[in-house]
Amino acid sequence: MPAVHISLDILQYILLPLLLTPPYLFLYLSVSTRSTIHPANHSHAMLTYPFDHTIFPASPSPLAPPCRTCSFPKPARSKHCSICRACIQKADHHCVWINNCVGRNNYLYFLGLMLSVSILLAYGAWLGYRILHVQIGLAYRSTPPAPSPDSWSRNLSWRRYAARFADIIAVHPFTAAPALLAGLSFPLAAGLSLYHVYLIWAGMTTNESGKWADLREDIAEGRVWRARLEELGADFPGLDAQPLAEGGGRGRGDRLADPRELGGGHHGGGGPQAEGAEEGEKATQ
Ligand SMILES: [Zn+2]
Ligand SMILES: [Zn+2]
Repeated sequence: MPAVHISLDILQYILLPLLLTPPYLFLYLSVSTRSTIHPANHSHAMLTYPFDHTIFPASPSPLAPPCRTCSFPKPARSKHCSICRACIQKADHHCVWINNCVGRNNYLYFLGLMLSVSILLAYGAWLGYRILHVQIGLAYRSTPPAPSPDSWSRNLSWRRYAARFADIIAVHPFTAAPALLAGLSFPLAAGLSLYHVYLIWAGMTTNESGKWADLREDIAEGRVWRARLEELGADFPGLDAQPLAEGGGRGRGDRLADPRELGGGHHGGGGPQAEGAEEGEKATQ
């Protein structure tokens, strides 16, 4: 499109390759880098993160049996993905867009992909707007008040301003359509990027945020509570030798205000721990 070509100044010829390259680079790295746990790296994965005994009970144990598919104890912060057919280290989520699990080894690339795509979309929308703006000026240069292609919008009502944009969109659909698509997609990419900035601040993965939310619900509904040592009985024979943490002797039915209070304590009921034990074959989106 010659009309678009002449609308680009030298800065755009520098910015375009600079902003176009990172998304492709991060996409390649996100797709090709895997965080799978296999027998060769399993023992190292078991030591990478400590079990918090809350959303990740020590494995193997009755609360966290070995992965049924991979046949080894699940390391803390890992999750089996039925699509990747493997346990994933520091599993965040299985991303359908990159057809790969986002985990310990490619999380940084995934973050780079989202941030660079957000910037590219914002730039694409702005560039399209600028090109159309100049094109309107050229089209209406003989219509007052329009002394130059760049100042046609001065003293124009919002209604007439929008009407001229609607006209030029019809004249230059191949410029307007990608710009509109970029502008409408930008909030999605930027929103997801911001959500991951929040997750990094909170020190958890998408998978873990779901587990904490489940635990909060179970505590609020009274399905998870801090049990007395004697209630645990024969299920946990080794507990006799480990005195409970301070305040760990509250009675059955005592509610916990904060899931983190559970750290180091023990619980009863079918909370996320029990769900975690069953989720070997599940995959999240
Ligand atoms: Zn597995
Ligand atoms: Zn996966």
